[in-house]
Amino acid sequence: MSAVDSKIIHMGNPILRQPSRQLKQNEIASAWLHDIINDMIATMHQEGGIGLAAPQIGQLVQVVVVEIPKNCKRYVNTQPFERTIFINPHIEVLDETVQGCWESCLSTPGLRGVVYRPRKIRVNYLQTDGQPRQAVFDNFLATALQHEFDHLQGILFVDRLHNSRLLSTHENYLRFWRDKPIPPL
Ligand code: ZN
Repeated sequence: MSAVDSKIIHMGNPILRQPSRQLKQNEIASAWLHDIINDMIATMHQEGGIGLAAPQIGQLVQVVVVEIPKNCKRYVNTQPFERTIFINPHIEVLDETVQGCWESCLSTPGLRGVVYRPRKIRVNYLQTDGQPRQAVFDNFLATALQHEFDHLQGILFVDRLHNSRLLSTHENYLRFWRDKPIPPL
């Protein structure tokens, strides 16, 4: 089976609700994990996402891939971000001030909803070479990473909706909401 045969697991499948386990150092260098990561990257590209967590392809391990292309269509006016693999990520909130974003998810096709999340975070994680790394993220990347890391705890963005009236089909998001400011929390 080639990597791109992978199908995204959609909301309603109990796998998405299970917590993922941490990876051990000896697993990080393994061909097994290398294959999972390549599968995640290929699937993310194929589906046009900007991030993917391993449970979304049925692997309950703590791995997230994030990559924001130039001229991103799914999220307009975002800065590009080079492909980064986060293994065993841990978040620390640096600024509790929340920002709202019309989030979407490859596991909830066709939906957009406003989620308010802390605007600045620090992330401790392991790189694919097993080395620890720490980095600070704010604005859209802080939102994107919190969304992806939630998947590792079995949490979907729809769980974090503050106001279900700010949940929309993608089509109606484009029609009615995209050009409006997001209401404050
Ligand atoms: Zn998602």
